[in-house]
Amino acid sequence: MLPALFVSHGAPTFPLTDVPARHFLEGLAAELGERPEAIIVVSAHWETAQPMVNAVERNETIHDFYGFPPELYALTYPAPGSIALADRIQSLLLAGGVASGCDERRGLDHGAWVPLRLIYPGADIPVVQISVQPDLGPEHHVRIGRLLAPLRSERVLILASGSFTHDLSSFRDYYDALHAPEPEWVTRFAEWMDAALTDNRRDDLTAYRAKAPEATRNHPTEEHLLPLFVAMGASDGKASRLHQSTLHGILRMDAYAFM
Ligand code: ZN
Repeated sequence: MLPALFVSHGAPTFPLTDVPARHFLEGLAAELGERPEAIIVVSAHWETAQPMVNAVERNETIHDFYGFPPELYALTYPAPGSIALADRIQSLLLAGGVASGCDERRGLDHGAWVPLRLIYPGADIPVVQISVQPDLGPEHHVRIGRLLAPLRSERVLILASGSFTHDLSSFRDYYDALHAPEPEWVTRFAEWMDAALTDNRRDDLTAYRAKAPEATRNHPTEEHLLPLFVAMGASDGKASRLHQSTLHGILRMDAYAFM
């Protein structure tokens, strides 16, 4: 069975950089072995009050960033969508008591297409995106993952895309410093999270904002960590770290598999 995955998608300039996190994503399909029939991507860049699912024949590429180099706006990822899978997701959520909405137009934002282009460059596997609910916190996202878990045995890959650390208020200071050293307040948070994930301390993880050192500094808002909880909810097992690196000092690019 395919694991549920959490990956960090980096800054919008990530597709133009030659760094270990990129090489990791380029090698990930081979590492997984089994090719998915379809992919559900949970991206930090689609924030809604209730869960939303996109249901389209073919995904448009959304360039949802401003003021970045023009070559980024030429990158596309025209993967097919899956209206049938979108329906199935909505049914599974509803059966678990979670009402969701359906967006018949929206394509893939950069939280989705940036990692997908590197993992599956052929853009030939159907992709359905679901949104995050920043007001509803980690437990809600664990529940979403649990309701989607049956799809894993149908060769559907659950790909959660966010950022392991994400203090954008510091990002401007680090924008031109791709390889800046990591401040210790980033390291302390990432190490606490890694220990909790690999020990499968789920109650600590969902309470990370109160328990983890420097949690609110690394995530002033939660949306870039919430996808992790969907991947966690889709599995009972502990997490294993697939990748660890840092970009711009403050963006940890860590990735985890939940078997
Ligand atoms: Zn992002």
